[in-house]
Amino acid sequence: MTPLIEPPQVVEEIVHRAGRPDFQRWSEQLHHCGHCSRPVRLRGRVLHQSTSGRRSAYSTDGEPDGVLMIRCGNRRAAVCPSCSWEYAGDMWQLLYAGTAGGRKGVPDSIRSHPLVFTTLTAPGFGPVHTTRADRSGPARCHPPQDKPQPCPHGRPTWCTAVHTEGDPRLGQPICPDCYDYPAHIAFNWHAPELWRRFTITLRRVLARRAGLTTKDFTGQCRLSFVKVAEFQRRAVVHFHALIRLDGPGTDFGPPCVNLDVDNLADAIREAVGLVRLTVDMPDGTGLELRFGEQTDTQPISGGPAGELTAERAAAYIAKYATKSADDFGLGDRRITLETLPLLGVSDHVTRIIQTCWQLGEHKPYDGLHRWLHMLGFRGHFASKSRRYSTTLGAIRGERRAYRQRQTVEHVRELLDEDTTLVVSHWEFTGVGYLTTGDTALALSEAARARERRQAARDAA
Ligand SMILES: [Zn+2]
Ligand SMILES: [Zn+2]
Ligand SMILES: [Zn+2]
Repeated sequence: MTPLIEPPQVVEEIVHRAGRPDFQRWSEQLHHCGHCSRPVRLRGRVLHQSTSGRRSAYSTDGEPDGVLMIRCGNRRAAVCPSCSWEYAGDMWQLLYAGTAGGRKGVPDSIRSHPLVFTTLTAPGFGPVHTTRADRSGPARCHPPQDKPQPCPHGRPTWCTAVHTEGDPRLGQPICPDCYDYPAHIAFNWHAPELWRRFTITLRRVLARRAGLTTKDFTGQCRLSFVKVAEFQRRAVVHFHALIRLDGPGTDFGPPCVNLDVDNLADAIREAVGLVRLTVDMPDGTGLELRFGEQTDTQPISGGPAGELTAERAAAYIAKYATKSADDFGLGDRRITLETLPLLGVSDHVTRIIQTCWQLGEHKPYDGLHRWLHMLGFRGHFASKSRRYSTTLGAIRGERRAYRQRQTVEHVRELLDEDTTLVVSHWEFTGVGYLTTGDTALALSEAARARERRQAARDAA
């Protein structure tokens, strides 16, 4: 572990906290909230109701600083590593249940349904610096063509560098003035609608392939899916999705159409190629949006190693569900043009945000100003059709019910009698730790807890 060098005031806060008689209890609370980065602090009490009246069974008055800390529950790894880890775990449970079956109310037989993992990309908006490989290994970014001409801005239209991972030029346009920023933003902004149209088109394509009308098809087959959005290096959104064919009912029965996993993969590729969405641009023209040429489709199998399994696909999607626009140096707060220079983001991201602002002044992009921190993407980062699997709510409910049972048990033990009714009163007092010293202590405790978990896993 890297030693932390803290300023004197923080050291003083740490010493103060660690020297308090209730330090042990404080550290227990840290453990209970999973070493959350910015826990919610609650003040309150649990009352015991009996025929003779109410009395206090538990109160935060006896807790360190008079509060109880609970998890922030944030999905994003950049905000809270601990809670995002828990979120990814829940997400994995949900995805794995829907993919492999045999748990959380999803039957084993789900494994026999056609299931495809697919990635839908965005089209090009102008050449960007990229990593490439050919047969001999890493290759040049954009090798010059015969008689290469500079662009209208007098810049080269080629790049002979072999970029390595971590090169800050990756994802940046070769000429920012040639790059079509308005189309890029229009894609991010309208991506949720483009996805919706894709699902409608896919149903039509599948119906045709099954020799049915769309109406008859929906009576025999349900399209179930879960998708996550991810930002590519060029800061445009793309989708990873698991798409499955089910029976029409709500009991995860098999589809009543004669389509196999390869038919589904073909239909996905065809539907992606067909989807179009024409949107209004501020200059009065219409812009036709579509997905990019590269559509990756992989059948999910329970088969031999090397193939994409249910486990791996679930882990892949769960990982993306904890990411956001953080990689571009943007936080979870709203951005304005005034605060933009303070963020220290790349020229490319600056141009994107400025273009978002300009587009947001016009009617079809009403509300875009509120989504600058998401680079114009307003959709959900993770979403699913109703019957893909169980719900995150159900998984969280199970976990919460377990914790509540534990709390009630705890209170019962304290009271040493049959509890008739427990009434709680809670009040919110704040978010995060009280001092920078507390935060530093919590972070180092969290790191130690992760090490212990890892060691336990290695030993197993
Ligand atoms: Zn948290
Ligand atoms: Zn390059
Ligand atoms: Zn140019």
